[in-house]
Amino acid sequence: MQHIVIIGNGISGITTARHIRKKSDQRITVISAETDHFYSRTALMYIYMGHMKYEHTKPYEDWFWEKNRIELKRAYVEKVDTESKTLTFAGGESMPYDKLVLATGSKSNKFGWPGQDLKAVQGLYNYQDLESMETYTKDISRAVIVGGGLIGIEMAEMLLSRNIPVTFLVREGSFWNNVLPDGESEMINRHIREHHVDLRLSTNLKEILSDENGRARAVVTDSGEEIPCQFVGLTAGVSPNIGFLEGSGIETNRGIMVDPYLETNVKDVFAAGDCAEFRETNGERRNLEQVWYTGRMMGEVLAETICNKPTKYEPGHWFNSAKFFDIEYQTYGWVWAKPKDNENDFYWEHESGKISLRLRWDKETDKLLGVNNFGFRLRHHAFDKWFKEERTVQYVLEHLRDANFDPEFYKSHEEEIVNQFNAENGTKVSLKKKSWKRILQLVSN
Ligand SMILES: Cc1cc2nc3c(=O)[nH]c(=O)nc-3n(C[C@H](O)[C@H](O)[C@H](O)COP(=O)(O)OP(=O)(O)OC[C@H]3O[C@@H](n4cnc5c(N)ncnc54)[C@H](O)[C@@H]3O)c2cc1C
Repeated sequence: MQHIVIIGNGISGITTARHIRKKSDQRITVISAETDHFYSRTALMYIYMGHMKYEHTKPYEDWFWEKNRIELKRAYVEKVDTESKTLTFAGGESMPYDKLVLATGSKSNKFGWPGQDLKAVQGLYNYQDLESMETYTKDISRAVIVGGGLIGIEMAEMLLSRNIPVTFLVREGSFWNNVLPDGESEMINRHIREHHVDLRLSTNLKEILSDENGRARAVVTDSGEEIPCQFVGLTAGVSPNIGFLEGSGIETNRGIMVDPYLETNVKDVFAAGDCAEFRETNGERRNLEQVWYTGRMMGEVLAETICNKPTKYEPGHWFNSAKFFDIEYQTYGWVWAKPKDNENDFYWEHESGKISLRLRWDKETDKLLGVNNFGFRLRHHAFDKWFKEERTVQYVLEHLRDANFDPEFYKSHEEEIVNQFNAENGTKVSLKKKSWKRILQLVSN
């Protein structure tokens, strides 16, 4: 019997473990320095906001692991020796492996700001961050968040839920505009300000000042302004957790370099999830994919490969979703911040300024390339199928009602969208009635 050791009990490590167990009788050990059991990292904010307890974020009961013979070890792996196939833990203990899966996730970025290691200065990534945020946000009069991305906006929502005033320093001239096109980015700027966040665009952190006890007391911005605060959230992105691999012979760049089978350069060592960096990408996909569902997909294919059925990671069409306070966001395919030379662009925004749709399509073929929707829901299956079938933008608009996934009786906007599209593009797209027959076909394929 082989011993398969997985470092990391997040979505990618746990999916790998569960799927190996379904297919084989090998001995499996999952190691984590963070928590005894797998929990949903994406729900961290809801624990702080009092909507959930930590216990509710665990997808499996604690007895699940023993019943499925998945051994759990709480420890930090300090060293990997790939010659002797041995891990060394902080504290000196060691563990041999036959096959090793690195599923070590990410850590919050710190860019060498003076004062970044003071008390009450932290990112939001793991359970320990949640605990320290709990400690350092009690009875404070202002928090400053540095870095405008998805985790930054979650942190703002968390702090506001406890009535803590927030100043948000964003380096870019408009929120997340390295990802979002101007219309959506401006919508989110307005939305953040409507929530009474003091949003400072085009503003960089220069340093964090300490009080006499080594705790943050203020930040200084690049314009020299001093903003008093008692908590500083660092949310300027994340990067793969790979420091402990130094000297192991496992090739790293920003992440752990892998081929499409998630194999590293060292035999019997694999990587999956946030920490894996693909040598080559599939179409337009990025080398690093740091989202929940891709971690799960990587775990599933890696289990196949480890159980002697080599399987490539072929994730299909990109999609993602997030939330900016109460505005939901979904994206399918590719919508770049600026359209590429071969792309046409259409943007519709509802008069409320909280609902929008953007479509990108190929100038030559009219084939749909990407969709951004804010404030209403679109059915994932519809876009997955339409991308596979290489449908044109006109076809997609005609069938837009089939894709709408809002609850019944929500106001729908398809007619307004199609009218604007026709007016701008000189087309005669005519909206079809919603058809449950077609919807069932979309969902069943
Ligand atoms: C606040 C927040 C909100 C998010 N929201 C979303 C969302 O809405 N949608 C979405 O798609 N994604 C979201 N993400 C991203 C998503 O959570 C990650 O992509 C995903 O959790 C990565 O899973 P993973 O299994 O690769 O790694 P992780 O979940 O990071 O797990 C890695 C584990 O390995 C452990 N580890 C690392 N090194 C060692 C070592 N040397 N020894 C022992 N243990 C080690 C770590 O402690 C950690 O427990 C969010 C992330 C955060 C932080």
